[in-house]
Amino acid sequence: MEKTYDVIIIGGGLLGCATAYQLAKRKAGRILLLDGNEIASQASSRAACLLTRARTKPALMELVQETYDCINEIETLLGESLELQQCGSITVASSEASLKGLEALEEAATRFGIPNERIPKDRVKALLPWIDAEAVDVALYMPTDAFIDSALLCSGYAKAAARLGVTLRPNCKVKEIMVEGGRVCGVRLADGECIEAPVVVNAAGSWANLLMRPLHVGLPFTPVRSHFWITKIDKERFPAGHPFTVIPDARAFTRSDVGALIIGLRESRCQPFDPATLTGQLEDFDFRKEAEWTVLDECAPLLKPYLHDIDDLPIAHYMAGPSCYVPDAMFIIGPVQAYAGLFTVTGCCGGGVAAGGGMGRLAAELITGETPFVNPALFAPERFGEVDPFSPEFQQRCADARSNKKGG
Ligand SMILES: Cc1cc2nc3c(=O)[nH]c(=O)nc-3n(C[C@H](O)[C@H](O)[C@H](O)COP(=O)(O)OP(=O)(O)OC[C@H]3O[C@@H](n4cnc5c(N)ncnc54)[C@H](O)[C@@H]3O)c2cc1C
Repeated sequence: MEKTYDVIIIGGGLLGCATAYQLAKRKAGRILLLDGNEIASQASSRAACLLTRARTKPALMELVQETYDCINEIETLLGESLELQQCGSITVASSEASLKGLEALEEAATRFGIPNERIPKDRVKALLPWIDAEAVDVALYMPTDAFIDSALLCSGYAKAAARLGVTLRPNCKVKEIMVEGGRVCGVRLADGECIEAPVVVNAAGSWANLLMRPLHVGLPFTPVRSHFWITKIDKERFPAGHPFTVIPDARAFTRSDVGALIIGLRESRCQPFDPATLTGQLEDFDFRKEAEWTVLDECAPLLKPYLHDIDDLPIAHYMAGPSCYVPDAMFIIGPVQAYAGLFTVTGCCGGGVAAGGGMGRLAAELITGETPFVNPALFAPERFGEVDPFSPEFQQRCADARSNKKGG
């Protein structure tokens, strides 16, 4: 490892690795990516992995499209598959409110050129053998939606970045972002070593505010619990590669997983975490502030009309992890005004797998001074004014943005 670089990226999750790849593609100089753990080992290895294309906010569709483009580019660059599973998706409406949401999604998808069609109940049943189709009033099928192993995608960005010249340093924790006279000048590592750079990108996910705190900068997000359950294998009922579903009336999504069903349920009061309580790695962190069974008790009845035997369905696994939520449910990407050269890409709002390629692109464009491909004001770190991410009130505000989540 050299002593000076042009850009240092802190964090080797999806957002840091995507940013590294996008910067390297733009020949942004000598780039170093540091992670306190292994690359792709934290939130980015715990996702449900949905790459949902259609969104009611046009900028988000652009970001997701960029991820799909990155997957193609990286496969060509590395000469290996990232194993994208183009299973399609089905959004289900069974109430007036969810029908309105479905219509908005349909309109947005059509405007953006995403293939979509309404399908009848018998087709829903043929595509989703597990569903009680009678509960489905309207079903919107999007055949080009896909899922991807998030850790594999993250490693793909990292390998592609390395192929283009980025230096990757896993197991190398940053203790401090160094600043001098109103601008960033590098980082100090946990072992005391200093590495200089005129540009530092904070992509430290749930931990990003711990690095900002000594600089008196608050990024407007808090980590909240996202989670899903995986059933036991039943290959006939849950065939591999069947479409993932989004069921707003049940605040649920499902996805096939090698003969099992992944079931994501969103509670009415989402659990926030104070970043100051985070452990250095998620393996050591207890996400069970409120037991997962309590959440099942609240949420399973909502899914029951679609999955009648959910009460008796054997559950094999439970997966929980942090999503970084922002009060307006939009990402945090761009320069941090207080210090020249300091940038951030975080606040994933549960969408870093789908949008990570685009988030990395926008970050890279802002760093290199290119014209941004989406409006950066939507994602500006300072858009809420001064915030204290360590205050319970602000953490609750972020959690409220996630509570009752209905989309994919
Ligand atoms: C249960 C669950 C389901 C999800 N499902 C989906 C989905 O279906 N679709 C979707 O798009 N998204 C989904 N997500 C969200 C997705 O996983 C995240 O958006 C994404 O992983 C965020 O990536 P990241 O790089 O910000 O965070 P991380 O992967 O956590 O990376 C941050 C990295 O920073 C490192 N770091 C922290 N502090 C330091 C330091 N001081 N020095 C050096 N390194 C440091 C950490 O070690 C870590 O590797 C889901 C998330 C969860 C938890």
